[in-house]
Amino acid sequence: MSPLSKVDSDEAGCKRSIVDDLCGGGLPVDEDRHFPKDDFIDRLTGAQYFLHRHLSAEVGDTTHIHIFKRWSSEQTRAVGLDSTITHLAALALDAKGQPDHWFVVNQWVVGDYWLSADETVDLFRGWAFSKGSNLKNPRYRYWHEWLANLVAANLDQTIHGLLRQRDQILDRMVDANPGVNVLEDRSIEVICHSGGWERGRTLHA
Ligand SMILES: [Zn+2]
Repeated sequence: MSPLSKVDSDEAGCKRSIVDDLCGGGLPVDEDRHFPKDDFIDRLTGAQYFLHRHLSAEVGDTTHIHIFKRWSSEQTRAVGLDSTITHLAALALDAKGQPDHWFVVNQWVVGDYWLSADETVDLFRGWAFSKGSNLKNPRYRYWHEWLANLVAANLDQTIHGLLRQRDQILDRMVDANPGVNVLEDRSIEVICHSGGWERGRTLHA
C-alpha cells in the first residue's frame, strides 16, 4: 500500500472531500482563486496551504494543494525579510478530491525562497497546524491533520526524491543554458512528479 492510499482513508467515516469542504464541490478553473481565499496560515508553526484548480499547458486541468512554510532566520533578517516562504510540493487530487500524486514546480510558479532538496525537507519536518487555532469551520481541523499526515508520511521518500530530482534537472539545465535564469523560465512550470498523468515520465529530463 502506498503512503498516499494509507493515509487518505477517512477514519472519521466522512465521505466529504477537502474540495467539498472548501468550495462546496464547485471549484472554478482559475489559478487566482485560492481556497480558502487568503490561504490557511498558522502564524505559530508557519504552516500554510491552499487549494486551487487551473489549466496548465503541461498537465491540463489540475486540482491541487500548494504546501508552504513561513520561516525566518538570521540570514533572511539580514537581507530585510521579517519572514519568507518556501514551497514544499503540490498535492494533486483526483476527480473525487482524493490524493493522486505529488509534483514540484519551478520557482516562478510560487515565487518562493528557494532552498535545496535537503534544506526543504529539513524545514518541513513536523509541518503541522497548532491545535489551539480558532477555526471558522471545525472541519478544517480535520483537513489540517489529514494534510500534515500526508506530508509526514511522504516527506522522506517520495517528496525528498522528487526534490532531489528537481535539483538535478535544474542543475543540468543551468549547465546547458549559460546566462539564463532557469528558475524564471516561464516555459518550465512543473519540473517533475510522482505519477498520475503520464505516470513515471519526468518532464524536462
Ligand atoms: Zn497551482
